[in-house]
Amino acid sequence: GTAPLGHSVIPIVNKLQDIFAQLGNHSTIELPQVAVVGSQSSGKSSVLEALVGRDFLPRGNDICTRRPLVLQLLQTKRKGGGDGGDEEFGEFLHLPGKRFFDFSEIRREIQAETEREAGGNKGVSDKQIRLKIFSPNVLDITLVDLPGLTKVPVGDQPSDIEARIRTMIMSYIKVPSCLILAVTPANSDLANSDALQMAGMADPDGHRTIGVITKLDIMDRGTDARNLLLGKVIPLRLGYIGVVNRSQEDILLNRSIKDALIEEEKFFRSRPVYNGLADRCGVPQLAKKLNQILVQHIKSVLPGLKSRIASALTSVAKEYASYGDVTEKNALGAMLLNILSKYAEAFSSMVEGKNHEMSTSE
Ligand code: GDP
Ligand code: MG
Repeated sequence: GTAPLGHSVIPIVNKLQDIFAQLGNHSTIELPQVAVVGSQSSGKSSVLEALVGRDFLPRGNDICTRRPLVLQLLQTKRKGGGDGGDEEFGEFLHLPGKRFFDFSEIRREIQAETEREAGGNKGVSDKQIRLKIFSPNVLDITLVDLPGLTKVPVGDQPSDIEARIRTMIMSYIKVPSCLILAVTPANSDLANSDALQMAGMADPDGHRTIGVITKLDIMDRGTDARNLLLGKVIPLRLGYIGVVNRSQEDILLNRSIKDALIEEEKFFRSRPVYNGLADRCGVPQLAKKLNQILVQHIKSVLPGLKSRIASALTSVAKEYASYGDVTEKNALGAMLLNILSKYAEAFSSMVEGKNHEMSTSE
């Protein structure tokens, strides 16, 4: 599978993780969570899926996401050699030890587990489903898919469904480190956007909210999203990205993510109105924007890491010095030098911003 999210950030995080592993310390960089917010059927699950590059989330023109899905992407070491060690698989917290290699089975299990807790009739629950995806192609990051906002109770939903869903969403997006993808379909009025309204409450300064405009392909004839994407309708500090995800028909026809990304690219290329807005159009641009924010985040925590490394080095040095063995001291010196030079290398590539660009090569 292809995972556009995080390609550029993976090498730097790996390097820093190596350094910490040598120090016997695994707690490295904690990346911020990314959560989606928006109305029901605005395309939240579709956007997350496209970012991950795999088909596994329930999507549809009805209420599909009825429990928060906490999706932890975990990078596995590439084994190579074609021995199957590079396979991607999923594992649910509620089914420990059971590996799902078939991603459509993951979707079925999400649906089944949703029904176990929230029933079969549109009920919503704030009890999380926790899913880990192991893959050599991902960055260690957590994405949260949330139920969308609805106004009118249907099925088994209680009369205060709107307030309940709001509270649930808020509990995720109010966390100061959470990045918010505020999803609004292009065929609805941005001034009525639940996504922007809630994101605005959780993040009034707009430091961690990215606007995502979906469904650019089904706007009313004679209209386009140019002014939305330019922030002329409602400004957002981090700006907007417009995307075209798969339609319900595409889903029924089992169209793949890869094909959908090709179609999206064609869509933007064939519409002159989006010329000159290339950096605001398409899922790969959304991934790139997220990557840039993650790189910024890593840069901001680097000084803290540096002092942690320094104090770890000092305590290791003290411990070894007490042994008084000359050969061990030499080995220690070599190890410390090695760690320091690796850190310096990682640090300078961050500062020089070599990892800003998303790699589109696979
Ligand atoms: P969610 O409820 O916000 O998670 O929305 P979903 O991702 O489940 O999508 C709701 C419906 O909208 C599904 O039928 C999708 O196929 C459809 N959809 C989502 N994004 C787009 C888009 O960009 N274009 C079109 N035509 N349909 C979309
Ligand atoms: Mg959904």
